[in-house]
Amino acid sequence: MTNFVKHVEGQAAAVDTAVYGREHSRQRMPLPEDYDAKRNYADLPKLFPQIARIFKGVLGSYTRYKFPAKASKSEASVAFIAELEQFARENGATAIGYARITPDLIFKDFVIPHQNAIVLISEMRKEPFITAPSVESMVEVAKLYADTTQIANQLSSYLRKHGFSAYSGVSIGGSVDHTRLAEKAGLGKIGYHGSLISPEHGARVRINVVYTNIENLPYPTSNEHDWVLDFCGMCHKCIRKCPPQAIRQDPEPDLDGRISAIDNTICGPFMAANHGCGVCIAVCPFSLAGYEKIQHGFMAAQAKRKQREMVEKERDVEQN
Ligand code: SF4
Ligand code: SF4
Repeated sequence: MTNFVKHVEGQAAAVDTAVYGREHSRQRMPLPEDYDAKRNYADLPKLFPQIARIFKGVLGSYTRYKFPAKASKSEASVAFIAELEQFARENGATAIGYARITPDLIFKDFVIPHQNAIVLISEMRKEPFITAPSVESMVEVAKLYADTTQIANQLSSYLRKHGFSAYSGVSIGGSVDHTRLAEKAGLGKIGYHGSLISPEHGARVRINVVYTNIENLPYPTSNEHDWVLDFCGMCHKCIRKCPPQAIRQDPEPDLDGRISAIDNTICGPFMAANHGCGVCIAVCPFSLAGYEKIQHGFMAAQAKRKQREMVEKERDVEQN
């Protein structure tokens, strides 16, 4: 599937605004060398309807690359951007953001047609997902891969109809690091488990992208979710619950100086052998209790701590 998707999105090379990943960009997480697809054959009947939808979505993306857009404009009005967001929501997106894609966000040896990105997320429902690792959670993940690919296809058609160039990304195995792109778009913060933590659904999200020639997208200048990492620093639940202990206690920076807590050489093989795993996302408090509740409790505790520290400081000054 990943090679097929790479072939589909690889056609972006024919677009004259194409941008490539850098030599030291991250590599897509490869399947483990000893991956045995037969091991999952028993699950195929339950997965088949979603796999069929994923293929349909990938073919839809392929068609858009085969028939390049003929753009008549590259600037969108505020009213049009509001309309496209409404269109995306009506078709299943639960949050929409914007980011300019830099080459470090494109996987090594991959290519994209435009640097301007409309980023979409949708929810993986709590009930099936908290059973991870299980066939039920795997079916939910596959459903969301299909849903988000379909939404991107619909949105790219909508943009083309209104005179813009647009190409839909593929949610499964795409060309860009979707998680980092969504963080850059201000849709949430990457937690210690390496997944996006969003205000809408915690870490239970799937992400996709539409590449477009719209040059004046409203890119965010800051990320209001930065506090999430302070919470991660005292939580560590995903680190404790990860079955093969693939999440590092002391995250290491990658070649771009960005923190990466997951050891893919441990996580990848475990995922391949255990229904895609996802335990870290399922147990994350943001996926269970919800973002707002955690933020409220965390901020209240921080305020109390600061007040206590101030009182202690004043007492020290008085005593000295
Ligand atoms: S489980 Fe805790 S440490 Fe891990 S990502 Fe979620 S909040 Fe952060
Ligand atoms: S997906 Fe599973 S193995 Fe990978 S980091 Fe999460 S809990 Fe650990």
